[in-house]
Amino acid sequence: MEKTFTDPQVGRVLLRKNPRARRITLRVSPGKGVSVTLPLLAPYRMGIRFFESRKDWVLEMQEKQRWRLKDEPQPSPEDIEAMRAEAKRILPVRLAELAEDYSFTYNRVRIKHNSSNWGSCSRKGNINLNLNLVRLPDELRDYVLLHELCHLKYPDHGQGFHTLLESLCPDHRRKEKELRKYRIF
Ligand SMILES: [Zn+2]
Repeated sequence: MEKTFTDPQVGRVLLRKNPRARRITLRVSPGKGVSVTLPLLAPYRMGIRFFESRKDWVLEMQEKQRWRLKDEPQPSPEDIEAMRAEAKRILPVRLAELAEDYSFTYNRVRIKHNSSNWGSCSRKGNINLNLNLVRLPDELRDYVLLHELCHLKYPDHGQGFHTLLESLCPDHRRKEKELRKYRIF
């Protein structure tokens, strides 16, 4: 049971009833927005009143979260070129190592610069890797490389794909989530 309304400053607010809730609570989560949880019997307007009484706090939280996402400064064209050089130096080597360790054969690897994905794998077995990967912690970089290698066997994100990836990269779903905190420039 839920309802939404739009506050002119805060944006969309979700009101949700939860049978297990004993009191009204308010959350502001990065990426997910603002939500108010209410006990089953509390009318929605109580949730709205609760939100209104804490609106200043909500705005403050939203501002903080915006800053966190903007933290990293936009790289200059020179930074991008430096990243590209580093990417060319390390990513193909690391990909070859992982492929060897886990018996994958790919066709060709290219370093790309785009803002839409960390990597991709074509049906012909060509792997593209985003030069932004050099900004990631090793653990997450390897996760992306293994993810693309697994696509050599499973082009989709079905059960087989996830089972294989989990066996090579334990905790891969947590890593996938972690990766969403990073921007691609
Ligand atoms: Zn994928």
